[in-house]
Amino acid sequence: QRFFKWSISRNNYSSDVAYCPIRSVLVANRGEIAIRVFRACTELGIRSVAIYSEQDKMHMHRQKADESYLVGKGLPPVQAYLNIPEIIRIAKENNVDAVHPGYGFLSERSDFAQACIDAGLRFIGPSPKVVEQMGDKVAAREAAIGAGVAVVPGTPGPVNTSEEAMEFCLKHGLPVIFKAAYGGGGRGMRVVRKMEEVEELFQRASSEAKAAFGNGAMFIEKFIERPRHIEVQLMGDKAGNVVHFYERDCSVQRRHQKVVEIAPAPKLDPKVRDRITEQAVNLAKHVGYENAGTVEFLSDESGNFYFIEVNARLQVEHTVTEEITGIDLVQTQIRVAEGMTLPEMGLTQEKITPQGYAIQCRVTTEDPAKNFQPDTGRIEVFRSGEGMGIRLDGASAFAGAIISPYYDSLLVKVIAHAGDLQASAAKMNRALREFRVRGVKTNIPFLLNVLENQKFLSGTLDTYFIDENPQLFH
Ligand code: ADP
Repeated sequence: QRFFKWSISRNNYSSDVAYCPIRSVLVANRGEIAIRVFRACTELGIRSVAIYSEQDKMHMHRQKADESYLVGKGLPPVQAYLNIPEIIRIAKENNVDAVHPGYGFLSERSDFAQACIDAGLRFIGPSPKVVEQMGDKVAAREAAIGAGVAVVPGTPGPVNTSEEAMEFCLKHGLPVIFKAAYGGGGRGMRVVRKMEEVEELFQRASSEAKAAFGNGAMFIEKFIERPRHIEVQLMGDKAGNVVHFYERDCSVQRRHQKVVEIAPAPKLDPKVRDRITEQAVNLAKHVGYENAGTVEFLSDESGNFYFIEVNARLQVEHTVTEEITGIDLVQTQIRVAEGMTLPEMGLTQEKITPQGYAIQCRVTTEDPAKNFQPDTGRIEVFRSGEGMGIRLDGASAFAGAIISPYYDSLLVKVIAHAGDLQASAAKMNRALREFRVRGVKTNIPFLLNVLENQKFLSGTLDTYFIDENPQLFH
């Protein structure tokens, strides 16, 4: 069963959940993820509506929607996409039924989910309560403990002073990791290995968190040495059913940010796989999780694993899961929001079977020779890698595209799918070598080094991989 067929027609409803079709979706986002959602909508016969900032007037995501509306006139580039009242107004004025938040921007803001619902719009994601609970690292951790999921020892609540931080370090020993309690994306994070560094690193992490997320509160955890980052893709419906779509390995990280993602996790002990997916599902059921989400874990060398957080939204790397399962996660999200149950869609756990290995490389307009400094300008020449088993999800990947400094530097996500990890890496390598990008620098040379690395090809990965292999940068 490589390709999933929607087994639903409006006639075969059997559940108690009220079904209400979605006829139009506004995507409160930009770039590749906006286009990803528009494509899903178009295939389902749903009208797609874009919003765009002044800076994105010429951006491709506008063209891929049926309609587009300017948002945040006069506001700075990022603020435009965070303007909740205006986004709601645009949706209401244009007869929109539902809002998809994408990732980043408002996707993990419970006040946005609530504002949509209050305005009579359906929010394609979990309930505001669950979004709020999962967005707070302390509350999410409590929920995990309540569901019987193993967690890393950590502070029971947010920590605001370096004295409290010191207390935790003395009690639990080093190393520890400081994390922004209300943040993400690797910002505001510091690993602490020496007692004399506690105070200084706490201040630095906390002020970074305050600048990035408006709150300097920190969360402290024991630091797991040589962890693997393994995360489980989930989907819940309105009837309380939850299924998992197996796991991804996202250990290839630079500065705690994912660079290359793989599904399923190579060389994962099947017993560990069973336990980790089961625990993720238990957690989702425990909190009444609806729609798509990811439970992230770190596993150590002995096969122990610990919950770190839940991302209550679609993730950048959802693509690799789609490739190995043949299931369109965005369409599934929309169906769930309409009130279809997973069994009605034919999505029961035993029907979800992974095939082969998929790898995603995030091709960015960053120059690896200049410490990954973002590059901007006009793309003069663009040819992409194509062919069997290659998927491209992008928004600015064409000649003539202007890469602006205003938003993140993701150019295109390249996804390869083949029978095993090595074949998938060979396919990715071949495709990346076919790329010709002139006008802006990209991280392709760096990605090729990763793909040719023996440790990577052996599938024995941990989050130290990039830092321990400085030759990857040349
Ligand atoms: P964010 O919300 O910023 O994405 P996460 O909690 O998901 O933060 O962690 C991101 C990455 O940071 C992890 O994949 C891992 O590499 C590292 N990390 C986080 N917590 C720990 C820990 N307790 N021990 C070791 N590494 C950690």
